Amino acid sequence: MRPALGTITLREPRTLRDALRMLRDEGPLTPLAGCTDVFVQINFGTLRATEFLDLSRLAPLRRICEEDGRLVIGALATYTDLIRSRLVRRRLPMLVAAAREVGGPQIQHRGTIGGNVVNGSPAGDALPVLSAADATLVLASAAAERRVPFTAFYTGYRASVLRPDELLVAIEVAPVEGRQWFRKVGTRAAQAISKVVMAAVRDGTPRIALGSVAPTVVRLPRTEAALAGGAAIAAAQGVLAEEIRPIDDLRSTAAYRLRVATNLLARFWADTAA
Ligand SMILES: Cc1cc2nc3c(=O)[nH]c(=O)nc-3n(C[C@H](O)[C@H](O)[C@H](O)COP(=O)(O)OP(=O)(O)OC[C@H]3O[C@@H](n4cnc5c(N)ncnc54)[C@H](O)[C@@H]3O)c2cc1C
Repeated sequence: MRPALGTITLREPRTLRDALRMLRDEGPLTPLAGCTDVFVQINFGTLRATEFLDLSRLAPLRRICEEDGRLVIGALATYTDLIRSRLVRRRLPMLVAAAREVGGPQIQHRGTIGGNVVNGSPAGDALPVLSAADATLVLASAAAERRVPFTAFYTGYRASVLRPDELLVAIEVAPVEGRQWFRKVGTRAAQAISKVVMAAVRDGTPRIALGSVAPTVVRLPRTEAALAGGAAIAAAQGVLAEEIRPIDDLRSTAAYRLRVATNLLARFWADTAA
């Protein structure tokens, strides 16, 4: 059941410092970024929280810049910000490709990359990109800041190492060598959640990540090693089929997902051949 509007309280910090202090002293609070996931959860009654922390005034968290050679994307950057950013287009084109396929324009204007990461749906379109890019997440609390490799962030289905007193403030990506590739397969191009989504980088050792085939986004180390070792694509597809265990759910079947995942691997390899 939805909480009555009168029971909802909203804190509106103007600085990151205030936001982190509120999380520490006045919590538990649920952060709000673009609200595109949170509103759905409130409407479906799956989120019972009544105390919220509005991050929308924290403009510095929306910045996209380069620091010490790394691409730094603020957690509040929207998909539209990513699409419009020359820096992201140059450094991480597979993230732009993913952003273009998230929802429709309204969702792209409001939805943030930080919300996608923390929401943690295994179908989140930005997640395979961050995994294949070996991104690092910057998490901050009132006491300290820490950096967590993206591949170590999730601990299970929509569960992560993020603590209730922490915010995701930024995502850092070291230069990505090699060709980048992204493909989303859903019922239609826009406004559809992925049935399978893959992001990959073709370098000496390829980096391949899949969404919607497990409780969390996954990297495919055995498939990556097989391709790096010179395996034929058919053999690598066999390794991939052993490496994932997709499930049947309301969006698709395990058999379809497995078939699509192996087809995407072959498409990635063909599209990125020299
Ligand atoms: C119609 C529709 C279509 C959609 N299509 C897609 C799609 O194609 N692909 C896709 O991947 N997603 C899709 N989504 C889901 C959603 O838009 C994205 O996951 C979006 O990135 C969420 O960002 P947000 O800013 O709206 O997050 P919010 O809803 O504000 O927050 C999501 C979660 O993250 C937490 N949070 C947000 N920011 C932070 C932070 N900085 N630190 C700590 N916690 C934080 C919130 O507390 C909440 O738990 C769709 C949603 C809708 C309603």
